Amino acid sequence: MRPINEIIVHCTATPAGRPVTVQDINAWHVARGWSGIGYHRVIGINGERWQGRAIDKIGAHCEGHNTGTLGVVYAGGLKADGRTAADTRTSVQKQSLLDELLSLKKAYPGIVKISGHNEYAAKACPCFDASAEYDQYFEGGKLFQPILDVTLTRGMTGLAVEEWSDKLRLYRKKIGHPWPVVPTSIFDQNLEMVTRWFQSERKILVDGKVGPQTRDEMDRALKGESPFNALFDKAA
Ligand SMILES: [Zn+2]
Repeated sequence: MRPINEIIVHCTATPAGRPVTVQDINAWHVARGWSGIGYHRVIGINGERWQGRAIDKIGAHCEGHNTGTLGVVYAGGLKADGRTAADTRTSVQKQSLLDELLSLKKAYPGIVKISGHNEYAAKACPCFDASAEYDQYFEGGKLFQPILDVTLTRGMTGLAVEEWSDKLRLYRKKIGHPWPVVPTSIFDQNLEMVTRWFQSERKILVDGKVGPQTRDEMDRALKGESPFNALFDKAA
């Protein structure tokens, strides 16, 4: 099991009262090029508590903060006009969200902090102050040390780059690709191109960067597994 020490709360940025399902969110995220729903839990407009991506899978919900977190989203976050950000949680949704957060905390005792997406990005999401609301369950979040995503990008050098290029070499060899990859410790234009090729082969977001999703997909690829699908891959 990956280390998990934080939950990041989101809203779906949909108008108050509009129903949103796990399948809806999955479709939005597939359209962005992801492997399906990026959140682990969804709170519906009537307080339903649904599963999204499996907990042991790294989510796709907060740039730079996916490795050690769970993403929980509630349906809403906009006023009925569909434009104005607002905390639209009904009392039922608030209670369900709290129940879900506390049950996750109980199941994964390493969780020592609940944050809002807006604490890590210039966004309104989730349209309320999650730390202010939930720090009381974690002695003010004193024990918390963020786990940041490690992402390789063009221009970087070193052992991690060499390991990545070696994995690309192994993958090409495995599928019998005619062009070998020469391992290199420099993330140059060529390595970025091969990285994009790999991402497109495996139908994940093609950005030429090696973050947790790309690394995870490579592990699957080298084991001969099919590309990750967030909606259907529920096995631990
Ligand atoms: Zn968000």
